[in-house]
Amino acid sequence: MGKKSYEFETRFSDIEKELEERENWIRAIHYKICSRCGERKPVSKFTIDKRNTDGRIRVCKVCRSRESLKYYYQDRERILIRVKEYQKNNKEDRRKYFQDYRKDHKEHLKKLAGKWYKKNKKEIKKRNLKYYEENKEACQVIRELWREANKEKIKKYNWEYWKLKVSLKKKGGKIC
Ligand SMILES: [Zn+2]
Repeated sequence: MGKKSYEFETRFSDIEKELEERENWIRAIHYKICSRCGERKPVSKFTIDKRNTDGRIRVCKVCRSRESLKYYYQDRERILIRVKEYQKNNKEDRRKYFQDYRKDHKEHLKKLAGKWYKKNKKEIKKRNLKYYEENKEACQVIRELWREANKEKIKKYNWEYWKLKVSLKKKGGKIC
């Protein structure tokens, strides 16, 4: 009985030792410490790089994407600043260019806009109606503001309309 138990103990500790070794081995091969955040992570968290001795890059994926994001935003900011500067420096030129273009191509642009409107009439009306339905209150406010700003114009228009109506009535005509 005593012998058996001893044997069992040794065997068990052998197995334990073996398991521990195996675990260490797995750890050594399948885990890696990130050189940026210092965390031990499974190698799958590191991008493959054949040039490296262990076949993976030194920085984990999280740190890497964080870095590239930082670069992206820094770069983006730099580009935006450059674009703004360019626009500022060329504002007058651009404005003049578009102004001249519109002036030189007035008829052509008008024709194009008319053509486009004709072609998309239904869609435009539908879209406007949908917009109005969704923004009723805002539309009404805008309309009222417009009416207020164009009071005189509207008055004059109504007056002209009324005059026309009366003169047509005298002639026996009708206005719709
Ligand atoms: Zn990391």
